Amino acid sequence: MDFGNLAKKERDRQYYQNHKEQSKERVKKWREDHRDHCKEYFRKYNQDHREQIREQRKEYQRKYRQKHRERIRKYNNKYRRELLRKRKEKYVHMLGDKCVKCGYDKCLSALDFHHLDNSKENDDESKTKAFEQKIKDGKIQLLCSNCHRELHHSTELVIK
Ligand SMILES: [Zn+2]
Repeated sequence: MDFGNLAKKERDRQYYQNHKEQSKERVKKWREDHRDHCKEYFRKYNQDHREQIREQRKEYQRKYRQKHRERIRKYNNKYRRELLRKRKEKYVHMLGDKCVKCGYDKCLSALDFHHLDNSKENDDESKTKAFEQKIKDGKIQLLCSNCHRELHHSTELVIK
């Protein structure tokens, strides 16, 4: 083993540790004095390693998504819930803000959309445009959960 070399390496390391700030300053100053050179160097580096940089970025994003999967999922869920709530508020407002049968107007979650043409209810609510058109055509009624349930219960009884 080359102890001489090893000792030199250790000395260099020690020197670097003791003069860390100084050498950082020196590098910083050199970069400032050679700004154009550095700019050109980085530009060329980016150009030559474009694919590699892209791959690295992709890999970073993949790892980030994996690491924060739960947080991202929660964020998306929250965002989606928010969106659905806003959309419902809008529809409820278009329909007069209260149950057409008993006048209930307290809780948004306790207000339902009753489809007068007996089409599938949940399908249409996700299709904004189609649903809005149905409201304008008078095919949707706003009912509170109680009235809605009573209504369906009675029609079911009639049908059977
Ligand atoms: Zn009602």
